[in-house]
Amino acid sequence: MSIYTCKKCGKQYESNRLTDGYCDECSAEYRDKYHQVREYLWQHPGITASEIAKACDCNIGQVMKWVKEDRFMLSEDSRVSLYCEICGTKILSGIYCPSCRAEVEKREKDEAKNARIRQHTQNMHGTSTERSGHDDGQMRFLH
Ligand SMILES: [Zn+2]
Ligand SMILES: [Zn+2]
Repeated sequence: MSIYTCKKCGKQYESNRLTDGYCDECSAEYRDKYHQVREYLWQHPGITASEIAKACDCNIGQVMKWVKEDRFMLSEDSRVSLYCEICGTKILSGIYCPSCRAEVEKREKDEAKNARIRQHTQNMHGTSTERSGHDDGQMRFLH
């Protein structure tokens, strides 16, 4: 159990799991709001973020955050503008356009692979003296 301070209402609350920074009440409210916003967006395609914020009584920053987090898509003709952070193409959700996103994911995967190779090389060196290194090497073959 750890004590956290709610980001929204400032109340102290206990939690034994990873929290998003809100107490139970606020996080329930947050989830409700998200569903309300998403619902509203479904029913009113083409609406702007500020209209959603007004209709659902939440702030526009939050709406944009959800869009950026890829929680939902804005419709094609929405006046909310999001642009790919890499090439500047207009996008509907997230931070990157589909092609840049694929590129970024590929690069991340390559980096993860390289890191694994590096680690594996270290494990190989450590095998003779370090048992844990050997175990890690074994684990890899199980996957
Ligand atoms: Zn709270
Ligand atoms: Zn792009």
